[in-house]
Amino acid sequence: MTAQQRPRDRMWSASYDVLIVGAGIAGSALAHALSAAAVRRKRPLRICLLERSLSEPDRIVGELLQPGGILALKKLGLEECLEDIDAIPTYGYCVMLAGSPVHIPYPEGYEGRAFHHGRFIQQLRKKAKEAERVEVVEATVSELIECPLTGRVLGVRATRKEEGAVEKEAFFADLTIVADGCFSNFRNKVLGKAALQGVTKGHFVGMILDDATLPIPKHGTVMLVEGSGPVLSYQIGTHDTRILVDVKHPPPPDLKEHITKNIIPQLPASLHLPALKALSQDRLRRMPNTFLPAIQQGTQHTKEGVLLLGDSWNMRHPLTGGGMTCAFNDVVILHELLLDDVHDLADWAQVKPVLRKWFWRRKPLASTVNILSVALYDLFGADDPLLEVLRTGCFKYFELGGACVREPVSILAGIEQAPFMLFRHFFSVALYSIWVLFTHPRRVGTSADGKAVLRRPRPDEWPLLAVRSMQVFYTACVVFLPLLWTEIRP
Ligand SMILES: Cc1cc2nc3c(=O)[nH]c(=O)nc-3n(C[C@H](O)[C@H](O)[C@H](O)COP(=O)(O)OP(=O)(O)OC[C@H]3O[C@@H](n4cnc5c(N)ncnc54)[C@H](O)[C@@H]3O)c2cc1C
Repeated sequence: MTAQQRPRDRMWSASYDVLIVGAGIAGSALAHALSAAAVRRKRPLRICLLERSLSEPDRIVGELLQPGGILALKKLGLEECLEDIDAIPTYGYCVMLAGSPVHIPYPEGYEGRAFHHGRFIQQLRKKAKEAERVEVVEATVSELIECPLTGRVLGVRATRKEEGAVEKEAFFADLTIVADGCFSNFRNKVLGKAALQGVTKGHFVGMILDDATLPIPKHGTVMLVEGSGPVLSYQIGTHDTRILVDVKHPPPPDLKEHITKNIIPQLPASLHLPALKALSQDRLRRMPNTFLPAIQQGTQHTKEGVLLLGDSWNMRHPLTGGGMTCAFNDVVILHELLLDDVHDLADWAQVKPVLRKWFWRRKPLASTVNILSVALYDLFGADDPLLEVLRTGCFKYFELGGACVREPVSILAGIEQAPFMLFRHFFSVALYSIWVLFTHPRRVGTSADGKAVLRRPRPDEWPLLAVRSMQVFYTACVVFLPLLWTEIRP
């Protein structure tokens, strides 16, 4: 068969039950899940997974999978994707505040995994390729094909990567699922008038350190630095440790100089040399940190015949490493609903209620992870004195131990799916911060030998502290309640 003949032949066979755009985290997992579970249906599904590049991606995203993500991966029968990629188990978090580590372990019996994103993606794609009736095609999707009369999406046009490929080959399907990631080209088209603009809360700049030792090994590490947002680090291979530096908008003109002068001196000493070496050898990568609330799909504003999945639909701040956990959890719920409730994928009237159910069923996990990620970033990343009171209160709250650590970390880890628990802990932190303001010694100066002088507030300072307490509580509400609203509204 010659290269000229091939595309024409394919035009005859380019019709599927499901088309998935993007073989990343969500797309690959969904292709495998639909194929594996489709034995429950009378007629097995034909699935096409379209990916613009099947080579191993080299990105600074998706490198720490929370325990809740591992649970979802197990439900999808994909846990072996974590093997043979030199993945490192993670047992919780370590937050560095003013040079001292605060240990926040995952609950007993739970662990996460950190790895090179590209290696994990290739494992997921391998499972998708091996799945029955899944065709993985290396092609860039450039447009959605719409019915000229109804506007319903019938498939996509894509250009294969291989030599001799014709421009814009058509792929048709009963249902098209777009999982093309954070820079989605199709988000606005699918959501129409309902589409929201994501809010970019700065960027993460990433590099890999050689043989670096973290303050608590095999723990996700969050380092709070003065005058800048948090620095995140986790070991992603036997010799490799990822470091992500938060950079506010607009980024400094010389990033390397900024990191060398302002960030590295504030990191634990064990990271200084590896970080300087990486800076001198590595190309710095930058990714936007965007918060994009999920919009209900299958309404009168959104397109028929198509739906969004993964980052193309919903994004949260990467500080808490929750993106893949949300994506896998979404795939678990969506594939079950599609297979159990929809007998004919071409019948949009059957798909619509499934999209509504999916939207609400995913909320307990997705909303808690989303809200926590942005609220924590606001707490850890801002230079505001009122947020600083909340930040100090937050660490003192963790020091109380017991449920004050176990429950918040279970939410972060995607183990607990409980928005009310998050609400309770957030406002407990706010009230505890106020208690700390009145009762704990604070720095009032520096002694002759350079040591901090600490003193408890005197009663004559209480009226001023009462005013400050109200401001702190108001700030907590301003951080939390708008986020809560974006997540609970229909
Ligand atoms: C800086 C940063 C760090 C992060 N760290 C973590 C972390 O540690 N843990 C975590 O859980 N989450 C993390 N995330 C979030 C996580 O990476 C995402 O939530 C996750 O990758 C989303 O998966 P996805 O399948 O939606 O998109 P992706 O995994 O990005 O996949 C999209 C796929 O679509 C393909 N594609 C795009 N356009 C086209 C097209 N036109 N035609 C064909 N194919 C196309 C792409 O090539 C890609 O393979 C991080 C995010 C950022 C920004």
